[in-house]
Amino acid sequence: MTKKILILPGDGIGQEIVAEAVKVLNTLKQKFNLAVEMTHGLVGGAAYDKTGSPLPQETLDQAKQADAILLGAVGGPKWEPLDISVRPEKGLLGLRAGLGLFANLRPAILYPQLADASTLKPEVVSGLNIMIVRELTGGIYFGQPRGVRTLENGEKEGFNTLVYRTSEIERIAKVAFDIARKRNGRVCSVDKANVLECTEHWRNVVIETHKAYSDVQLSHMYVDNAAMQLVRAPKQFDVIVTTNMFGDILSDEAAMLTGSIGMLPSASLNASGQGMYEPIHGSAPDIAGKNVANPLATILSVAMMLRYSLDEAALAERIEEAVSWVLDEGLRTADIYSAGMTKISTSEMGDAIVDALVA
Ligand code: NAD
Repeated sequence: MTKKILILPGDGIGQEIVAEAVKVLNTLKQKFNLAVEMTHGLVGGAAYDKTGSPLPQETLDQAKQADAILLGAVGGPKWEPLDISVRPEKGLLGLRAGLGLFANLRPAILYPQLADASTLKPEVVSGLNIMIVRELTGGIYFGQPRGVRTLENGEKEGFNTLVYRTSEIERIAKVAFDIARKRNGRVCSVDKANVLECTEHWRNVVIETHKAYSDVQLSHMYVDNAAMQLVRAPKQFDVIVTTNMFGDILSDEAAMLTGSIGMLPSASLNASGQGMYEPIHGSAPDIAGKNVANPLATILSVAMMLRYSLDEAALAERIEEAVSWVLDEGLRTADIYSAGMTKISTSEMGDAIVDALVA
């Protein structure tokens, strides 16, 4: 059955990098019989300029009907003076909430060819391949009550609530265990169960959920230790599953181990496997429109889409192999360039991946 993909380029380099990912999708359609139908929509500043909203109802409706969404990036200085309610970032948050995208998958992969890009020693990070599964719609970012109140003595107090229901923990744990089954079969659940009752509950529910996954190895780690282990010996991890806030912090830390923001994809999934796929970087206004941005994070997001929403794991692997092949050939966009390599543009990188796919 033909699957529907909604393409949302967004702002800044979003337009350029998504165009290259669409080239790749078209190649898969034409040469490998991938049965997909693509429609384009508006989100972010681009949507605000045309409709007055960063997430027009039409886009949300298109997103709900799609099997998968490919998003470039949103935001930029042009829209910063706007009221917060219509800023481009609201478009992203609205899509996450509107589709119930509770599972955020952030791989931190360091291709051996780029080991020098990391600030850590090559032997510590070369070949790194971690999957961080972050809970995205619950926890302290959404818990009620929240706010800033004035106490009787006139002093002000800010407060937030960390809260997780059993069902919210179960569903994210299942995502992590299912993914581990397709990888190296190990899950590390990160919490602060020694101090926070909510994450003690988290740990207990993860242990309970694990009973249906005896083929997966489960370990637990406190978040402070996990932050340390990620820079000490990151290759010990396969899949990490954690709360919204811990995942926010640890996934950025893990991404930076690789030193190449232009290489990292992400996925956000809901209960029915519908997903939104996007590079982890932003709209990079400093290089927008110059044909120099690295499109590989977006192209690798297409690989994640094939694996997690379109049930096309073999084609996902083909894209990942094509990326590896292009790096072996010494082809580099400016952000990952080093002496002795061949510097190429955004569109040349897209073409090189297409060539590698059909070679
Ligand atoms: P950014 O990720 O856009 O850029 C940070 C740095 O990395 C810049 O120097 C940029 O040139 C470089 N960079 C990013 N992606 C690159 C790529 N593919 N190839 C080569 N270099 C790349 O972060 P920022 O500068 O903090 O934010 C810029 C805008 O993007 C802001 O409006 C911000 O709100 C928005 N943003 C959006 C998202 C998103 O859409 N998911 C995420 C982060 C930031």
